[in-house]
Amino acid sequence: MAGDGTVQLIDEKGKRLDGRNFDELRPISIKIGVLENADGSAEIRMGKNIIIAAVYGPRELHPKHRTLPDRALIQCFYRMSTFSVNDRKSPAPSRREKEISMVISNALTSVVFTEKYPRTTIDVYLQVLQADGGTRCASLTAASVALADAGIPMRGLIASVAGGLVNDKVVLDLYDIEDQKGSGDLPVGYCPVLDEISLVQLDGVFTLEQFEECLNLSIKGATEIYDIQKKALQDKYAAIRAEVSVDVKETEKKVKPKEEPKAEVKEKPKEPVKVAPKPEIKAKPKEEPKAEVKEEPKPEVKDKEEVK
Ligand code: UDP
Repeated sequence: MAGDGTVQLIDEKGKRLDGRNFDELRPISIKIGVLENADGSAEIRMGKNIIIAAVYGPRELHPKHRTLPDRALIQCFYRMSTFSVNDRKSPAPSRREKEISMVISNALTSVVFTEKYPRTTIDVYLQVLQADGGTRCASLTAASVALADAGIPMRGLIASVAGGLVNDKVVLDLYDIEDQKGSGDLPVGYCPVLDEISLVQLDGVFTLEQFEECLNLSIKGATEIYDIQKKALQDKYAAIRAEVSVDVKETEKKVKPKEEPKAEVKEKPKEPVKVAPKPEIKAKPKEEPKAEVKEEPKPEVKDKEEVK
């Protein structure tokens, strides 16, 4: 919800109310695999935002008539907890929540290899525990790593952040007051591996130059967030590898029987080796000389003419 931009949100030194520079992100941390029962999960903290993403599937879709014959359906359920904002939020799903669920679902569909799982659903639950502006972007960032945690093949991760207009200046990563009182909001989802924009929305009035500047700043911010996503995934697998190697070492210890000290084997005094007497080999009787066989002389064959 963009405001009229009249509230002073940037001081004369160019610093924002929370002390950030115009191109600075809020502190971000991402934890992977935070839920035991989900196929994949992540928790993101972006400034004061706290959001949990849980992925279930690919699994059977009900009602069946919603299944897609050639690919999986990605269903997102973005919900703000009643206690996530100052004024209690109604637990009934609002139009805003439905819209955010849809845009996140569309963005994720553009990077997941949905064709690998026809006639199934991949369900992504996004629960906002604490909201501080930019929750759709933080949710998309968390959903992306939760899908990776679930082992769902993707063309690339999506990192997301909103740029915006505050006192006619383009700034990165709007937080609550800037979102409410600033004059423009531009949430962007960006996939650095594909160099593709998978989500872009706009609220407020931007000049073309401001729009381009804001889009580029958001892409730069998303690229920084992408590094944090990668690091979170790498940390998780490094931890698993360390755990597995400890387990393997312990199992090896258990399986290997302790080498008992070898009993001293006294060498028996060697008995003289009895050599069996060789059997007497009798000399073969000399073969008698064969009688000389005299060849009988062949009858002389006379020439044909002589015979005549
Ligand atoms: N907000 C609120 N109550 C609501 C919805 C939103 O207080 O019912 C606040 C919340 O802090 C949220 C911010 O308004 O982060 C901006 O909401 P917007 O619709 O712009 O979405 P977001 O910026 O969170 O993606």
